[in-house]
Amino acid sequence: MLVDIEGTTSSIAFVHEVLFPYARRALSDFVREHAGEPAVQAEIEAAAAEADLDASDLNTISTTLVAWIDADRKATPLKALQGMIWEDGYRSGAFRAHLYPDTLPALTAWHAAGLPLYIYSSGSIHAQKLFFEHSEAGDLRHLFSGYFDTTSGGKREARSYQNIARALELPPERILFLSDVPEELDAARAAGIQTIWVIREVEGRYRLDEGADSPHPVVARLTDAKLERLA
Ligand SMILES: [Mg+2]
Repeated sequence: MLVDIEGTTSSIAFVHEVLFPYARRALSDFVREHAGEPAVQAEIEAAAAEADLDASDLNTISTTLVAWIDADRKATPLKALQGMIWEDGYRSGAFRAHLYPDTLPALTAWHAAGLPLYIYSSGSIHAQKLFFEHSEAGDLRHLFSGYFDTTSGGKREARSYQNIARALELPPERILFLSDVPEELDAARAAGIQTIWVIREVEGRYRLDEGADSPHPVVARLTDAKLERLA
């Protein structure tokens, strides 16, 4: 079982309504409190170099980083600092990762049935592990046999799914991928992997009836997924 996170196990809103606003709010305090740590200092220096600022002027650097967030600028030091702030927030209990109500029952049942579970998400493997360590249902990492991110390739590229099948040492047809994004499912299917389209109507992107003409079987809940072809 290869499972996507955002829109599949968990709401897309969690990232946009919880994680990103938290990082924006916590940024200047985090920079001030952790500037003495080498990993943080390195990102502060990288941001200062990119913005042509004095690396010791933490206030101006924080203001600049927040402006980058507001401008949706994909700066590497900003991304690195956001990751550290989220880790801090998870560990301090400031928030927990969202799960749809059917997610834990489905993951638990698949795990109990002896199906090895893997995650494939565009978030880093480190971020995926943090997510499931600090979920609303507690630490779920014991349910997963492994994690894949975009170091295996983009989620809309068939080659990525070939890479994952090779890493799992399984013929593609023995793998089932569940995602909320049809383009990802098309890519997996092109690689010979089985697919299920998870349509969460609450996300407002697709309606269940739109799945009728799809080559991918459609479910509204993970607990509705039919797994007979994996036996
Ligand atoms: Mg998704």
